[in-house]
Amino acid sequence: MVRPPRSAYVHIPFCHKRCFYCDFSIIPLGDSAGAPSSPGITSINSYLDLLHREISLSPKGPPLSTIYFGGGTPSLLKKDEIASLLENLQRKFGFQDGAEITLEVDPATFLENDLEEYLTIGVNRLSLGGQAFEDTTLALIGRKHNRSQLIEACHWVNNLFKRRMLRTWSLDLIQNLPGMNLNSWTKELEQAVHTEAPHLSIYDLSIEPDTVFGRRHKKGNLNIPNEAVAQEIDLKTNQFLKSRGFSRYEISSYSLPGHASRHNRMYWSGSGWWGFGMGATSAPWGERFSRPRTIAGYKKWIDQQENQLLEKTLFAKDSSPMPLDELLMVGLRRREGVHILELAKQSGWTQQECDENFKLLDKYWLKFLKDGYLIKKNGRYFLSNPKGMQISNQILIEMYLWWDSLD
Ligand code: SF4
Repeated sequence: MVRPPRSAYVHIPFCHKRCFYCDFSIIPLGDSAGAPSSPGITSINSYLDLLHREISLSPKGPPLSTIYFGGGTPSLLKKDEIASLLENLQRKFGFQDGAEITLEVDPATFLENDLEEYLTIGVNRLSLGGQAFEDTTLALIGRKHNRSQLIEACHWVNNLFKRRMLRTWSLDLIQNLPGMNLNSWTKELEQAVHTEAPHLSIYDLSIEPDTVFGRRHKKGNLNIPNEAVAQEIDLKTNQFLKSRGFSRYEISSYSLPGHASRHNRMYWSGSGWWGFGMGATSAPWGERFSRPRTIAGYKKWIDQQENQLLEKTLFAKDSSPMPLDELLMVGLRRREGVHILELAKQSGWTQQECDENFKLLDKYWLKFLKDGYLIKKNGRYFLSNPKGMQISNQILIEMYLWWDSLD
C-alpha cells in the first residue's frame, strides 16, 4: 500500500542569472531581482499565485515532517512571501512537532537581518549555496556572489546557529570544477570546514548539454579534471572530512553527528513526497512525475489540474507504487544501502521471483562484488566508501541492464 507523503518540496525558480553549469528550471530576473520595484516583481507575484493554487488543489494528507524550499534562489523571496506559503501548507496538511523547515539561500541575496526574519516564521535549517571560495572560480562558473560575500554569509548563518536560533545549516560546494586540482580543492575543503558548517553537500560537477559549460565542453574548451584527478579529489574529500569528524551518509552528503538532513534522507528512503512549483518533481503516491519547466506550461498545467483533465493528477487514483529499480537507485546512494529482498517483497515479488531475479542480479554485479565496490551483508547491498561511491553510476547502469532483462 502506498502511504501518503509527509514531506514537501516547494520550488522557487527565480535567480539573478543562470550559472554556467545549471540546467534547472529557473527564471533569471537580472541584477535587480528582489529589489522592491524591480521589473521581476510582477513575475514573482504571478508565480506565487500559481504556487498557492497548486498547494490548495492538493488532497489533504498527514502532517508534514519536512518542508524544503529549493530553487532557483528562494532567498530572493521576502519573509512574508515564504510565511504565506508555509501558512498555506500548514492549513492543508499541518506540521508535525519539530518539523524540519529548510530554506536554500544564496550569498548574494540577503543580509544578516533577512536571515533572522526567516527564522521568525519557522525556518529552522538553512542551506547555503557557496559552490566555491575563490573569486576566479566563482567568476569562471558564472556565480553572482564573490568570496567575501560568501565568507560573510557563512559567518552570519553560523552566528545564528551558535546562538541556537537555527537548528542546523549546510554549505554546498562543487568538486571537479574547471581548472581545479588536488591542491586548490584541498584549500576549498579547508575553508569549508573553517566556516563550522555542520553539514556539507559536495556535488560533482555535472556537464549538462544545454548550458554554457555543455557548449564549451563540446568544443573542447572546458578544462575539467580528468578521471584520475577527479578520483583523487573525491578521495581527498572523503579522507579530509572524515578526519574532521564528518560522516558520509550519502554519496554527496557529509554531516557531523546529528546534522544529517531529514528531508534528503526521505528522498533516498523511497518515501513519497509532495512537490510544488514549475519543473518540480513529486512522488506523492509512489510513481514520480514532473511539472512543466516553463511558466506558461506550468500555468496551463495548473488550469488543467483544476479541471482534472490530466492523466497524472495530483490525486491518488491510477497511481502505482515506486518501481523497484527506482527504489534501488535512490536507496543505494545511502551509507546503509538497501535490503533488496525486503523491497522486492513489498513490491509484490514472490519468493521464487526473488530467488531467480537476485541470482541474476548478482551476476550483473559480480565484478563489483568481487572487487569490493559493492558489499553484500545480511541481505543488504551497499556501496563501499569511497571506492564504490566513486563509481556508483557504473553500478547503477548494471542494475538497470538487469532490470531491463527481466520479463
Ligand atoms: S543560483 Fe542555483 S539555481 Fe540559480 S542558476 Fe545558479 S545554480 Fe542554477
